[in-house]
Amino acid sequence: MKGKITTHFSWEEMIRSRTAEANGIENRPGTSEMVALERLVVELLQPLRDTYGKPIRISSGYRCAELNRLVGGVASSQHTKGEAADCVTRDAGELLRVLKDSGLLFDQAIWYTKRNFLHLSLRKAGNRKQFIVYNT
Ligand SMILES: [Zn+2]
Repeated sequence: MKGKITTHFSWEEMIRSRTAEANGIENRPGTSEMVALERLVVELLQPLRDTYGKPIRISSGYRCAELNRLVGGVASSQHTKGEAADCVTRDAGELLRVLKDSGLLFDQAIWYTKRNFLHLSLRKAGNRKQFIVYNT
């Protein structure tokens, strides 16, 4: 999968996984997962990036079930639906504050304080706007 989704986000970074490559897993999203990934980027990640004004790196986006198991994700993980991405910035707490102030719609924002990344998700309907902090 090649090409940009928006100015700052590409299909490659939303799908590519070193763990998948190292383990011979294809990690190929289906149509509905691609629709969800595009929605996540267009409606949440890019507008957030625009407001934040600094780079956001995606450490994990789409995960097929096999990859998700391998990285220890919960079976119901939104990563397997293309609805979630782990966002790495210099200060994930700052990105969370920007999200809070932005009024952007999201489902869950999970801040992993020690690992310094923000898990963000968005689904088609029923978004919970839920903030969670894990001190891991
Ligand atoms: Zn995540």
